[in-house]
Amino acid sequence: MYAEVRGESGDIRITAISTGTANCHKLQEAGRDGASPMRRKLDIMRDREWTGPKPIYTFLIEHPEGLFLVDTGDNHHNSEQKGYLPWWNPFFQKAVQIKVAPEEEIGPQLTRLGVNPGRDLKAVLMTHLHHDHTGGLGHFPHTPIMVADENVKAAKSKGSLAGALKSSFPRWFDPTPIEFTGESIGQFTRSAPITKDGSIVAVEIPGHMEGQVAYLVRAGDVTYVLAGDLTYTQEFLLADVVDGVTADPDLSLASQRKVKALAAEEPIVLLPAHDPGIERRLPANEVVPSAVSSDPAAVGAPGKE
Ligand SMILES: [Zn+2]
Repeated sequence: MYAEVRGESGDIRITAISTGTANCHKLQEAGRDGASPMRRKLDIMRDREWTGPKPIYTFLIEHPEGLFLVDTGDNHHNSEQKGYLPWWNPFFQKAVQIKVAPEEEIGPQLTRLGVNPGRDLKAVLMTHLHHDHTGGLGHFPHTPIMVADENVKAAKSKGSLAGALKSSFPRWFDPTPIEFTGESIGQFTRSAPITKDGSIVAVEIPGHMEGQVAYLVRAGDVTYVLAGDLTYTQEFLLADVVDGVTADPDLSLASQRKVKALAAEEPIVLLPAHDPGIERRLPANEVVPSAVSSDPAAVGAPGKE
């Protein structure tokens, strides 16, 4: 089990809480360059190498306007597999091993940290609706759950073919749409303010899944970027490696490069949901190296979206 890790800057504190572990094939975290989405998935099914157990992080943000949770991790039913995952989908049955003990679900973990999951959160902020991010939704029946519309549409229309497990969504699940009414930020053409003070905003990072978003948290000296599955590790982001389960490799790469471009403009601490490097980077507020991200060749030609 990964222990929770904390980072703070200014009046904001972020706690990364892992809800168990996910083990996947190496070709899931790093797909073959130039391969189509279908080719990538076939590669994963044939891959005999595993990454080893990786964290399934959720992030508690302590902000002057209240507590926010980014993603909800997974739940213990997904470890058991019997009847929870669609039997007809070989990807779910063979390509991922989820291990979550009941006490590792986000509800009990928040309680252990002194946060009442039923009452204390201002909102749950979803990066995307893949099954290992939505497994804990059931702990938050009384909390607004924010998701980008495009992401909800993809999850509802494609279901497990898009990595979403509709059957695991609580019956009351009625997400609050993220409104992209804010200004451009770096290469992101629009943004969505989450807090009144504008220090938490959502930006669009599609590719891995349609309508995926990242949350930028402007804290004292750094900007935390809660990046969902934009990349599996910071190293893959820096090397322009796109994952094996992406819905659109070109869009994934464009989104990754926008985040790299942002890292050249301001100090960012990158927090992808399955990156073991967070154990080191978050407590130290270790930023994405700008020497790499400021390379003009690495951030792509302007206007190529
Ligand atoms: Zn995902």
